[in-house]
Amino acid sequence: MGGSEAFVVTPSASRLSAQERASALVDPGFGKIFTDHMVTLRWSEGSGWHDARVRAREPFMMDPASAVLHYGQEIFEGLKAYRRPDGSITLFRPEENARRFNRSAMRMAMPELPETLFIESVEWLLKLDGDWVPEGEGSLYLRPFMFANEVFLGVRPASHYVFCVIASPAGPYFQQGAKALTLWVSDRYSRAASGGTGAAKCGGNYAGSLIAQMQAAARGCDQVVFLDAAERRWVEELGGMNIFFVMEDGEIITPPLGTILPGITRDSIIELARSEGYAVREARYSIEDWEADAVSGRLRESFVCGTAATVVAVGEVRRLSGSFEIASKAPGPVTQSLQTRLLDIQRGRAPDPLHWCRTLGKIAGL
Ligand SMILES: *Cc1c(COP(=O)(O)O)cnc(C)c1O
Repeated sequence: MGGSEAFVVTPSASRLSAQERASALVDPGFGKIFTDHMVTLRWSEGSGWHDARVRAREPFMMDPASAVLHYGQEIFEGLKAYRRPDGSITLFRPEENARRFNRSAMRMAMPELPETLFIESVEWLLKLDGDWVPEGEGSLYLRPFMFANEVFLGVRPASHYVFCVIASPAGPYFQQGAKALTLWVSDRYSRAASGGTGAAKCGGNYAGSLIAQMQAAARGCDQVVFLDAAERRWVEELGGMNIFFVMEDGEIITPPLGTILPGITRDSIIELARSEGYAVREARYSIEDWEADAVSGRLRESFVCGTAATVVAVGEVRRLSGSFEIASKAPGPVTQSLQTRLLDIQRGRAPDPLHWCRTLGKIAGL
């Protein structure tokens, strides 16, 4: 299947009124409230992708022996729809999410979804729920995901899957100019190892990172930063964000791909920084160097980035053996200017020379 005619559209009979929606959008937080509809497709061995539906959001019926509940074949994506000043709706590099989704699928022995179907699914949801994209600095967070639902306890790739897209309005996650984060370096737990699933966006990676996040919170830190699994030395990334280091000579360093998740924000920041004349190096950077450079002043800024939070400064790093501060904990000028550049492109306030934005026009809803 491929064309949009294959989607069966059944608008919800119980969608919220404009007034109810407006009050839900006042302070949506993150990931707590959801729009009226969802998109689902099914895959089975032999028939491939079929049964594309746009319909009221509702619980799944699941057999207790569904494969995902036992062996964890589950992957997801996260992207945002932004409301532009002219009322139109924009997606940021959704083709990259579609491609990464398929790389994750391949790693987890799940079926690939044609990129056009991924994007059509997201656009169908926006067609019905476009009114949920907030005005101003908020956004509508879109969550495509896929899981194995074959009823079978044998260990092998499942032969039935569900793909689904849901959406959740989000306030400005971390306010622009918000205070810098304090990170906890996990000396005990790693997120990913060579040959593992670190580069796949799968729920299991998050499950394995939560205990370290709990320890970070217990130490008064905002997020965990993970080191490599082999040497416990090289800085990799956070549980859900990539990391950058800005040096005094203007060089910007970010850990290389491999065991980290290839963030689309990471890639965009690399391109933006290069276009502004910074030398960006994808290279390993050790926790020892991070500390020594922060203390000596050779390191000027560190920031982390991802779709949910955009770009956020790191102000302090703590670990069992001590802590260090970065540039008096104030968000630095490079962090701030890259954040502004990215947000301005996403929100249509600045030109988009690399054609990253896919604008849907003013959608009236059905
Ligand atoms: C999703 C994710 C990121 C950020 O990726 P973006 O495409 O920039 O949103 C970084 N690290 C992990 C582990 C992730 O799951």
